[in-house]
Amino acid sequence: MRIDLHTHSSVSDGTDTPAELVRKASAVGLDVVALTDHDTFDGLDEAAAEGERLGILLVRGMELSCSRRGDSVHVLAYGADPANPALAAEMARVRDGRLGRLAGVLAKLAELGVPVSEAEVMAQVGDSPSVGRPHIADALIKAGHVRDRQEAFDRFLADGGPAHVHRYTIEVDRGIDLVHEAGGLAVIAHPWGRGREYVLPSSVLEALARDHGLDGIEVDHQDHDSEIRERLRALADALGLLATGASDYHGVGKLDHDLGCNTTDPAVFDQMQQRLGSR
Ligand code: AMP
Ligand code: ZN
Ligand code: FE
Ligand code: FE
Repeated sequence: MRIDLHTHSSVSDGTDTPAELVRKASAVGLDVVALTDHDTFDGLDEAAAEGERLGILLVRGMELSCSRRGDSVHVLAYGADPANPALAAEMARVRDGRLGRLAGVLAKLAELGVPVSEAEVMAQVGDSPSVGRPHIADALIKAGHVRDRQEAFDRFLADGGPAHVHRYTIEVDRGIDLVHEAGGLAVIAHPWGRGREYVLPSSVLEALARDHGLDGIEVDHQDHDSEIRERLRALADALGLLATGASDYHGVGKLDHDLGCNTTDPAVFDQMQQRLGSR
């Protein structure tokens, strides 16, 4: 059993359509794949239909934009009800914030000497309801200002970078509660990736587990080196959290994140399904 619980399609900032993503997951021998687009459930029906056709299980997921003290935190939601009013309203507010920050980012990029227009960005966004920095990066590539998404982030778009603009996100404890209210499981994505241990130190993860019933943490992720993975695995054990693993695949949008490059232990996935079944 090979299980990859975190991937993105072109419904947010990945580059494969939901059906293409599921076909590729099947082709690389995955048995289970979760589609977890940023702040939208829109790709799930298409992905699930393709999964049924190919005999690969599609887990209905979503990656919710949260924060703690102004620093970004991503919460993976599994099995949450898209029709839950409170969650849907907050997701809509987050997506509005994604669009609302665009003018500010574009003004900064123009000042920095790498102008792109809103139309150029929206051409990269396509029908995605979730406008992301990777789409801005793609417009910068198309305009010849950078070679790839990574260069766009490193020079301009990364958190705290010269073209970064704050956007609305949900307080992480509230985000976890919302996912639970919608009947889902809440797992913190790449909790200590990119040097972010200070955002969610173990004491905070412990409090989220104790006071908000956090279900799990993503341990095996490309943004975690082997030392961080070991420390997170030990922490998950100590706190009774599920330890997941996943690729965070974005198609050609993110190198070194091939489908199935990290996977989740089938025993952990069993526990997730049991918890979802009892909700
Ligand atoms: P956004 O959703 O607009 O906040 O952008 C987040 C997306 O950009 C996610 O897919 C991240 O993986 C990607 N991202 C965020 N920070 C970086 C970074 N420093 N380098 C590369 N990609 C990043
Ligand atoms: Zn992304
Ligand atoms: Fe993420
Ligand atoms: Fe992701």
